[in-house]
Amino acid sequence: MKKHNFSAGPSILPEYTIKNTADAILNFAGTGLSVMEVSHRDKEFMAVMEQANKLFKELLDIPSGYEVLFLGGGASMQFCMVPYNLMNKKAAYLNTGTWASKAIKEAHFFGEVVEVASSKDENFCYIPKGYEIPSDADYFHITTNNTIFGTEIKEDLDVNVPLVADMSSDIFSRPIDVSKYSVIYGGAQKNLAPSGVAFVIVKEDALGKVDRKIPTMLNYKTHIDNESMFNTPPVVPIFSALQTLIWLKEQGGVKEMEKRNIAKADMLYSEIERNKMFKATVKNIEDRSVMNICFVMNDEYKDLELEFREFAISKGMVGIKGHRSVGGFRASCYNALPVESVKALIDVMQEFEKKH
Ligand code: PMP
Repeated sequence: MKKHNFSAGPSILPEYTIKNTADAILNFAGTGLSVMEVSHRDKEFMAVMEQANKLFKELLDIPSGYEVLFLGGGASMQFCMVPYNLMNKKAAYLNTGTWASKAIKEAHFFGEVVEVASSKDENFCYIPKGYEIPSDADYFHITTNNTIFGTEIKEDLDVNVPLVADMSSDIFSRPIDVSKYSVIYGGAQKNLAPSGVAFVIVKEDALGKVDRKIPTMLNYKTHIDNESMFNTPPVVPIFSALQTLIWLKEQGGVKEMEKRNIAKADMLYSEIERNKMFKATVKNIEDRSVMNICFVMNDEYKDLELEFREFAISKGMVGIKGHRSVGGFRASCYNALPVESVKALIDVMQEFEKKH
């Protein structure tokens, strides 16, 4: 039976990425060696790193003055590297969920943290608006897509201080205006590659403004100066990331992804609205994530949650169980998820409705 992979991350990747990575695990670039066993400084791998960097910039239309880094430590390491490198005294954060809260926790190690607004009062089911950002904050941090709660900030905000964004789960899902940000970071394991590498887009001008000493490995400057090769980089995930970037370009880039992603999300949210058994956890349409679509059973059908989950699994749906802090279901519809999988899930929802 065909599996439809709605996992939140690690998650579905293009077949192109998986196949080319599998091939390179056996024989990398005609070397007769595995990509796992060659030096990261061999010309064949240096070419991978260079091309990944170039395509990353090209696909997101990154202006000059910015560098792209591929680092270990996941997005979670960035929760500490961002304040280490950018916060002198004070930083502002928008609290939109678990990952934002974790970023806030780390920022407290470095200075005063102003939580400008939070949607915790309603279990993070909306994006707060109308908040004020202190003008003396060194930066303002947002999580554009809240993977667990299924909310998303879909526009590039205009703010009065440097903007920093965790885009772990929506990078490459739509065009972004990079010039509005000082730092954009994320883990690769949603729209890019297997886990093990984080990407960081950093504006060079934003650096060198803090008074503290920064340990070498945690200093963005180190990795800029060494083109992400200061230490041994995560070579296999970087190789896979390059394959995804090549695939993305062939598919028509982020504009095309946005079109497809909106179509997939619209289709699924419409069925959730139409089907009497389900309801979306995010009520405000403009706050709804295009990537992670969260829904629960309507109150009258609450007792059928487990039955629906088992029914869906029996039909090949994978990874639709909601995060424990939300319950219900979460269908993650990343770039590589084909529209056929969304249609298959909708069929399952309709079949279940008919059964009851
Ligand atoms: N931020 C967001 C929005 C995430 O979804 C995740 C992981 N799912 C993280 C940060 C943490 O990423 P990592 O596991 O790479 O540290």
